[in-house]
Amino acid sequence: MQTYFYATGNFDRSAQRREDQGWLRARLADPNSRLYPVWRLRHLVESAEIPQLRLLDPIAQADLIARAETVILLGVDGGVAHFALDLSVLDEHAAMELGEFQELRGIGPLLPQRDGALLAYARGLAYWHQRHRYCGVCGAPTEVKAAGHQRQCTDRACATVQFPRTDPAVIMRVTCGNRILMARQGMWAQGMHSVLAGFVEPGESLEDAVAREVFEEVGLRVRNIRYFGSQPWPFPASLMLGFTAESDSEAFDLQDGEIESARWMTRMELLNSPENETFRLPRADSISRRLIEDWVKL
Ligand SMILES: [Zn+2]
Repeated sequence: MQTYFYATGNFDRSAQRREDQGWLRARLADPNSRLYPVWRLRHLVESAEIPQLRLLDPIAQADLIARAETVILLGVDGGVAHFALDLSVLDEHAAMELGEFQELRGIGPLLPQRDGALLAYARGLAYWHQRHRYCGVCGAPTEVKAAGHQRQCTDRACATVQFPRTDPAVIMRVTCGNRILMARQGMWAQGMHSVLAGFVEPGESLEDAVAREVFEEVGLRVRNIRYFGSQPWPFPASLMLGFTAESDSEAFDLQDGEIESARWMTRMELLNSPENETFRLPRADSISRRLIEDWVKL
């Protein structure tokens, strides 16, 4: 099985420890534990050029750890507990004193795969917590439960429990014979072209969503829709579900305005990608890049 960037793979999430308050307290104060600070959805790094993660010291920074708004048990790996601590309560000055907080989008591709995956996991949960402070049923405040993996309404009559959400999105490589459809959205980095993608709507199967999105965006009817693989994409809360699909026609029509331009390309054209403002492939850490490279190598 291929490992996708930002997927935690065989990392042990230790769900059975999430209600074990005594064990959690002891691990938070254990010098062997790894504590990842998150500040306003950013991560603490050593240097912006070649980033290295900076962790909190469970002993020396105990006061700071006690101020964390949300403490999330990520899991236990090789006997070592990993936690994410949301320190967004710190003002900018206090955060700067700890060091440099960077966006995962920028540093992700430069990090070791496991570090990138743990930050994606931490970021995804921190984002969810920030947006679920109030109960969607009665409007009362909610509180953190299950070591950061649930929130519960504080109104005792309501007591609704919420679980972290991930939004499924399909991403699909459309081919016609020996050519692949490469499209571009106006908001993307200059020259970047990629495969098509879109969110799954209620009542759809993933295959339904692939067929609908392709038709909405480029007016093509596709067949032979096949699952390819999936990747967490916490920008902010997606799970990208990769598919391949075939079209019998190259006559596309940019219908909904989301796609600025599109073109059919051969393998040779992709292999000779200039990687500049006229044409560049998607980011190296993305499933879209994987879908394209997999086809080039076929
Ligand atoms: Zn409620």
